[in-house]
Amino acid sequence: MSVLPAEAMPAEVLVRVEGLSKHFGVKTGSGQALLRAVDDVSFDIRKGETFGLVGESGSGKSTVARLMLRAYRLTAGRVLFRLSDGTVADISALDDRAMRPIRREMQMIFQDPYSSLNPRMTLRDLIGEPMSVHGATRAEIDARVAELLACVGLRPEYAGRYPHAFSGGQRQRIGIARALALSPALIAADEAVSALDVSVAAQNINLLQDLQEQFDLTYLFITHDLGMVEHISNRIAVMYLGRIVELGETEEIFARPMHPYTEALLGAVPQPDPRKRRSGRRQVLKGEVPSAVNPPSGCAFHPRCPYATERCAAELPALREVGGRQVRCHFAEELALQGVEA
Ligand code: SF4
Repeated sequence: MSVLPAEAMPAEVLVRVEGLSKHFGVKTGSGQALLRAVDDVSFDIRKGETFGLVGESGSGKSTVARLMLRAYRLTAGRVLFRLSDGTVADISALDDRAMRPIRREMQMIFQDPYSSLNPRMTLRDLIGEPMSVHGATRAEIDARVAELLACVGLRPEYAGRYPHAFSGGQRQRIGIARALALSPALIAADEAVSALDVSVAAQNINLLQDLQEQFDLTYLFITHDLGMVEHISNRIAVMYLGRIVELGETEEIFARPMHPYTEALLGAVPQPDPRKRRSGRRQVLKGEVPSAVNPPSGCAFHPRCPYATERCAAELPALREVGGRQVRCHFAEELALQGVEA
């Protein structure tokens, strides 16, 4: 593993993703083609924050998380992670064996608590498994499992039961307890509460926020649901067809989106409080996300963008600094001027 000095990235940064790309070879009717699932994605996640990665299905957001946690090999780019001893590790090219000690510090919570928990394992074994892999004794595991069940609002005496005895919301909590077992610094939650009904999802979000404070956790929250991300994220990156199109403080992006795609996504979020309703332009997102095998020329959003010009179809806009955030649109300044006011 390549260990870099602590100063390799700013002290407040826990993870740095630089130029991350993932291309898959796929078969098409006419032979082989390249699917650019993620293309040149860069961002920092700061210690203690919740960073939201949002976009429609097919935007590449889940692939970014899997690359970051090294579940996939990178096609290009670099992932830097600050270890608990303060040093910075370049984990871009590590194999499974070399990643094992680092995986203690970065965990994932999955969307589907039904399929991610082995139905033949008790809660004790499910939650204790990551600890036994890292050499904990039976007594240590029992004590920690009881403690973790209590942390996620489940009774410690449930340790001998199987996942099928629990509701969807409770199974999600079991997944959270399992993720916490090795005291990670970072938890990536991939559509973690999307399968739950609204009130159960809200309870689990509150739980995640409490745990963040209690254990000094940093979250990467991956979701298509902007309504939810508004309440929990400090900053968000909006992805479209494998690329970031807007990145900044959540509050500012919700008050005044600068990218037409963000604007359209926000237009679809119901706002029950009339005092907070967004005025100004209102765009409806039309059509489907195009195929990443054969993406549109220039700005990939141009076939769906109401502001597109000839330049948009010809020239890929750069992700650039506009008004304190990053935006990938040729006309970000002009569109912001006519903007959506909070
Ligand atoms: Fe729309 Fe053009 Fe901006 Fe792309 S570059 S988002 S097509 S205005």
